[in-house]
Amino acid sequence: MKIKTKLNAGVGLLFLMIIILSALGGWFIYQLKKDTQNILVANYNTLQYSRNMLLSLEEIERDPFSVKEFQKNLNLQSQNITESGEREATRNIISHFSDLNKNRHDANLKSVIRKDIAELMQLNMNAIQIKSGIANTTAENAIAVISVAGTLCFLIAFTLMINLPSNIANPIRELTFSIHQIAQQNYRERVRFEGNSEFGELAKSFNTMAEKLQEYSESRLDKILKGKKRIETLIDNMHDAVIGIDENRKVLFVNDQALKITGLKKDHFIGKLIQDVAVGNDLVRDLIREIIDPLISKKADSELLKIFVEGKENYFEKEILDINVLPTGEDDKRFIGQVIMLRNVTPFKELDLAKTHFLGTVSHEFKTPISSIQMGVQLLENERIGNLNDEQQKLVLGIKDDTIRLLKITGELLNLTQLETGVVELNIKPAEIKTMVESVIAANQSAADFKNISIKSEIDPNLKFINADFEKTSWVLSNILSNAIRYSYENSNIEICVKNDQNQIQFSVKDQGYGIEEQYLDKVFTRYFRIPGTKADGTGLGLSISKEFIEAQGGKISVKSEIGVGSIFYFSLKA
Ligand code: ADP
Repeated sequence: MKIKTKLNAGVGLLFLMIIILSALGGWFIYQLKKDTQNILVANYNTLQYSRNMLLSLEEIERDPFSVKEFQKNLNLQSQNITESGEREATRNIISHFSDLNKNRHDANLKSVIRKDIAELMQLNMNAIQIKSGIANTTAENAIAVISVAGTLCFLIAFTLMINLPSNIANPIRELTFSIHQIAQQNYRERVRFEGNSEFGELAKSFNTMAEKLQEYSESRLDKILKGKKRIETLIDNMHDAVIGIDENRKVLFVNDQALKITGLKKDHFIGKLIQDVAVGNDLVRDLIREIIDPLISKKADSELLKIFVEGKENYFEKEILDINVLPTGEDDKRFIGQVIMLRNVTPFKELDLAKTHFLGTVSHEFKTPISSIQMGVQLLENERIGNLNDEQQKLVLGIKDDTIRLLKITGELLNLTQLETGVVELNIKPAEIKTMVESVIAANQSAADFKNISIKSEIDPNLKFINADFEKTSWVLSNILSNAIRYSYENSNIEICVKNDQNQIQFSVKDQGYGIEEQYLDKVFTRYFRIPGTKADGTGLGLSISKEFIEAQGGKISVKSEIGVGSIFYFSLKA
């Protein structure tokens, strides 16, 4: 049944019951009123007339007015005959009264009339008793009927009071609970209301909605699971080793390559703290060094890890990525873990080694013929061998410049191969600073003269010796000086300065050249880097080799520069 119908029926029934109760009450009150009025009209008046007649009868001999009074009451009584036998009694009174009227002193007749009146009174009193009994019965009936009707009404109202609110409230409560379940993503929740009330329709709509939500959520979950599997397969098939940890350093995933390299099983990793895994595995310990102690991160970053995998030397580049995500509706990113990656760079390393060997061999093989060419050119310049005409002299000069450049390049390449193969041999012993500076200036003098550049040197007189590799330090100073000459305008000055700087000996070469833009200052020390637009010949190797030579001796190299003003290159070594 519909809720509306139920409510209408309930309220209607209550209304009907009120009407029935009121009608019953009214009807019984009316009955009682009728009974009492009956007594009053029919019997009380007769008793009153009888009393008046008795009183008048006593005075009838002395007071002629009493006769009239008697007659008046008798007439009134004649018109108020209500009970059976009353008519005969009245008639008796009338006949005896007319006899009395003839002889007013007849005591006997008076006595007869008194008896008649007494009988009339008895009749009416009996009637009053009977009618009072009827009224009593009516009252009792009224009490009984109204009690029954009232009890019935109470029972019906009580049943309605118990059932009707719960009929409405229970489905609402059930529905509220189900809505809470849906809000908590429990899409399997359903409501079941029986009957075809409005709640039945509501339940149907609710269940349809829940079903659709469940379908949607399951399809989304399925998609997410598929995506997860795809990414896991991708990570597993990578050639690089990958280990993922959460913000508490618990291992979330590890790929096959990482298992192969570490020689551990998946069970050793998943769900364990990475530092616990590291306790029993040297490689893992090495991998998480910077996670445990962030201070060593920078140094470890640049190192290649040499690991034997399946009996073969492999090179890996380690990278640790922090994973920060922006949670929905929040402004700040949250750290949720790290990924440790070991990039397999063995093929590149092998190619690099092959290149280094090739460069080493080629530059070594080139050095001897180039030196012979240089000697040949020097011989050609010698007048004792024969005079050259102007044209020939120009050609010889060109060949000379080229051989110098070729020798410089092969020298740089040889140094580079030495650095790359890690066979830089330092020959550190006290070296005379003045000799070093003068020899470097002498080696670059002709190039400086060519551009009319003057080179001045200023050496702190207290500084005589430096504990360094003479050959390599001279090479660095010469490289910086030759750069200063090459990247300077004609007719400018270059200053070489050697001074004591915080217990270190600092060499500086200051030029008045083109200068270097700030954005390139860091980069000039990287291999093969040349500032875009640089015209003078070069390989981009000189400064990077210089940096490695100086750092190998525990020193530092740096540069300051201003566009259009000039540059100063510094390097300092232990005193
Ligand atoms: P390169 O063989 O090209 O000179 P370097 O490593 O010696 O290689 O120098 C790297 C680059 O730095 C050069 O190509 C040049 O652009 C810039 N550079 C080096 N020294 C100077 C300098 N004194 N003035 C301006 N630019 C310079």
